Amino acid sequence: MTDTQSRTTSFGFREVPTGEKAGLVRGVFDKSARRYDLMNDLMSLGIHRAWKDMTIERANPQPGEKLIDVAGGTGDLARAFIAKAEQRRKTRSGEPATAIVCDINEQMLLAGQKRGDDEGIDWIVGDAEDLPFEDKSADCVTIAFGIRNVTNRDKALAEMRRVLKPAGRFLCLEFSRPTTRALERIYDAWSFNAIPRLGEAIAKDRDSYQYLVESIRRFPNQDAFADELRVAGFGQVGVTNYSGGIAALHTGWRI
Ligand code: SAM
Repeated sequence: MTDTQSRTTSFGFREVPTGEKAGLVRGVFDKSARRYDLMNDLMSLGIHRAWKDMTIERANPQPGEKLIDVAGGTGDLARAFIAKAEQRRKTRSGEPATAIVCDINEQMLLAGQKRGDDEGIDWIVGDAEDLPFEDKSADCVTIAFGIRNVTNRDKALAEMRRVLKPAGRFLCLEFSRPTTRALERIYDAWSFNAIPRLGEAIAKDRDSYQYLVESIRRFPNQDAFADELRVAGFGQVGVTNYSGGIAALHTGWRI
């Protein structure tokens, strides 16, 4: 079938018409934008910061480089990328690095801009499936906790590869599958019980956080998602588990 309206896709544990998912996802982040950073810290007990630091360490930012952070939300990765390149500039010469935070949801970008500390960052509204950037224009493309919200992952992966320069690097940080049964049980208990309750108590929005935990379970496991990167044309695809596979970093190169 080619008519996207007549096909369905997952929205958490629900099946919804494919054409409706983007609007539903936008609704989730419209509602959660204001409390997004606080909720991230509470839900992950602050661990998302370490995962993001490790991601940027692997991105290996260099002076003068340009990052596009897709589904970049409030800009954590972009800030860290620029800061790391700036550290390197102290011992080496070169221009400052720059970053674009691209997100489909303007409220998330506005929440990021309100935080300040965004020298070198441009904030651009755009869809991961149709990026508003030139071919081969970025040294590095990142996406953190964004790909599982996208309706057509294959389109988004193709777009992220398109905007990378040859030999540019791609890094995708996403929730994944715990590697042991014991950890999975603890993680299930935390995420299905505590996270929706936190959403209700702090953000007055249980449903969005219920979607969040369900969407994590619907996302492909480490190996299956690595295969999707290969199909999209990335080379030297690698996977690193963080916190026993609760999150995973997938990396690839445009070759
Ligand atoms: N990357 C940020 C971080 O790690 O803190 C934000 C992650 S947040 C869980 C997911 C983000 O994906 C939201 O800001 C949402 O608006 C964005 N998003 C969802 N679908 C998108 C799409 N199709 N294109 C671009 N951004 C999208």
